[in-house]
Amino acid sequence: MSLFRSRGPPFIPPPDNVTIPQFILDDVGAHFTRLVRPVECPCFIDEESGRAIYLAELRQRSRHLADVVKGRWDISPGDVVSIYTPNHVDYGVIAWAVHHLGGILATHSPDLTTEELVYQLQIATPVLLIAHPGNLATALRAMQKVQISRERLVILGGHEAPDSRFSSLEDLFASHAMYRPHVEHMFKAGEARSAIAFLCFSSGTTGKPKAVAVSHYNVICNVVQVATFNRIHEDYAPAEKRRFRVGDIVAGVLPLYHIFGLVINLHLTLYGAMTVVMAKQFNYENLLKSIQRYRITHLNIVPPQAVLFCKHPLTKQYDLSSVRYCVVAGAPMSGELAGQLIQVFPGVQLGQGWGMTETCATGTMASTLTPSPQFPIEQWVGTPGSCGQLVSGTVAKIVKVDGTLAGVEEPGELWIQGPQVVLGYYRNDDATKETFIDGWIRTGDEALFKDNGDMYMTGRIKELIKVKGYQVSPSELEGYLLNHPDVADAAVIGVPDDYAGEVPLAYIVLKPQVAAAVKKDAELAKDERAKLYKHVSSIASRYKWLDGGVVFIDAVPKSASGKILKRVLIEQSKQLPPRA
Ligand code: AMP
Repeated sequence: MSLFRSRGPPFIPPPDNVTIPQFILDDVGAHFTRLVRPVECPCFIDEESGRAIYLAELRQRSRHLADVVKGRWDISPGDVVSIYTPNHVDYGVIAWAVHHLGGILATHSPDLTTEELVYQLQIATPVLLIAHPGNLATALRAMQKVQISRERLVILGGHEAPDSRFSSLEDLFASHAMYRPHVEHMFKAGEARSAIAFLCFSSGTTGKPKAVAVSHYNVICNVVQVATFNRIHEDYAPAEKRRFRVGDIVAGVLPLYHIFGLVINLHLTLYGAMTVVMAKQFNYENLLKSIQRYRITHLNIVPPQAVLFCKHPLTKQYDLSSVRYCVVAGAPMSGELAGQLIQVFPGVQLGQGWGMTETCATGTMASTLTPSPQFPIEQWVGTPGSCGQLVSGTVAKIVKVDGTLAGVEEPGELWIQGPQVVLGYYRNDDATKETFIDGWIRTGDEALFKDNGDMYMTGRIKELIKVKGYQVSPSELEGYLLNHPDVADAAVIGVPDDYAGEVPLAYIVLKPQVAAAVKKDAELAKDERAKLYKHVSSIASRYKWLDGGVVFIDAVPKSASGKILKRVLIEQSKQLPPRA
């Protein structure tokens, strides 16, 4: 069997001397895949208020904000601005204002607790923090801990901002006439490849979360790769069969701080002349209402959201017939779930994608998926379970444990090369060197390719746990547990969960005295488990809580070099009684 390396379709590279907003908003260096937006077609609709936002407004607001931010805080190229908010229609405006000045936007999950935010701010070292009013208290506590002055806080929203001591974003817009126009940051040839645009947090293949340095070129390329993929696969398709068309309406439920939402729902949709119905947070009933009200055509979702469409009783009460295209990514979607989803959305183009923060969103996308006379459901059901095929300009190799390349249909570690592979981890050379090797990224995922180029995920080699598509770093939770006075050692693994995909479970070695007491008294053991569950809950975001349980053991199995043998624990966890 031949040694396997798979290649995506050819890639016509976009310019590498433009910033993201120049390419996406201003159409500098127009690419052949670009779709032209009619003036009457809004870029965003705020789900809550119904307010529509048009391209001219985005261009103007991002420039005005850049004037004020430069004038008040003198942001220089390479400076970091942090954003800590749920989805908001001004998310893009803030990003592009920072980019106009050559700055970097660090995106933080709105669910972070004070400790988690402190940790991320220490890595990003922002000169300015923009926070949602709902996140104000946490933002202030974290800023105090990392010694960022309150002068450097901006609250999203308008005059209704809860605390007049801080500038609101609308105040900044209102004051822009007082400031000199900023000087637009320009790149020379090739500079977009190395200039950081975003810092997004990911724990990668090992350890605690790190700031992934995403370049302007990475984002521009991934947008073009996804668009090119469709062109190449659909050039000969009649217009009504194309995936993306001018005026398509996209459900904006993915969080924008995460690379999937950031690249696909913010940048690809703008580039592709679509409209995003931006939801502050995911709420299933609101999503159903929005699909019906706005005639949403495109769903970009994670597997637990797909489960809701299949299982929730409310689904049947809404008219979902406008949906034409549905991509599920971020975590595995089984063939069974795909089969059920196609029953909910008959005739929809349904596909799975694979990607990671370190590949600036998309690595693979589903190819021919439309159940139609040409591609009947029988043929289509051959593909569910697959993550699709490599996007343009991307190469993959599958490396076996012995370091040799796998053959077709042989599993091994997935390595990826392409223009979307990010620069590395911000200010963390050691972690960068471990993961980014000779122009490749080792993904920590186990996969195989079939002869036709379809990729299948077969497992995960890295420690990462994915809860509802969100990353949970076992090392981070082990750190919290080791800080507890009763704990001598700890190891965290993911265990399967019907809805969330996986949930974290902790194996704990208690300190001798506590262990002895707990062994004798079942009630005490129950209390101790609850205590440790609460301990993590008091520090970590909701999805990181130990919903898989807390199990006491005598010793954590380790290799001779002291590495936790997670495989042993994963096997042991299969013997545990089912969770209530
Ligand atoms: P993130 O950086 O948060 O996007 O997480 C990336 C990781 O999510 C990947 O390395 C995979 O382990 C997992 N992942 C993403 N897409 C899929 C998929 N379609 N199937 C299985 N796992 C996936």
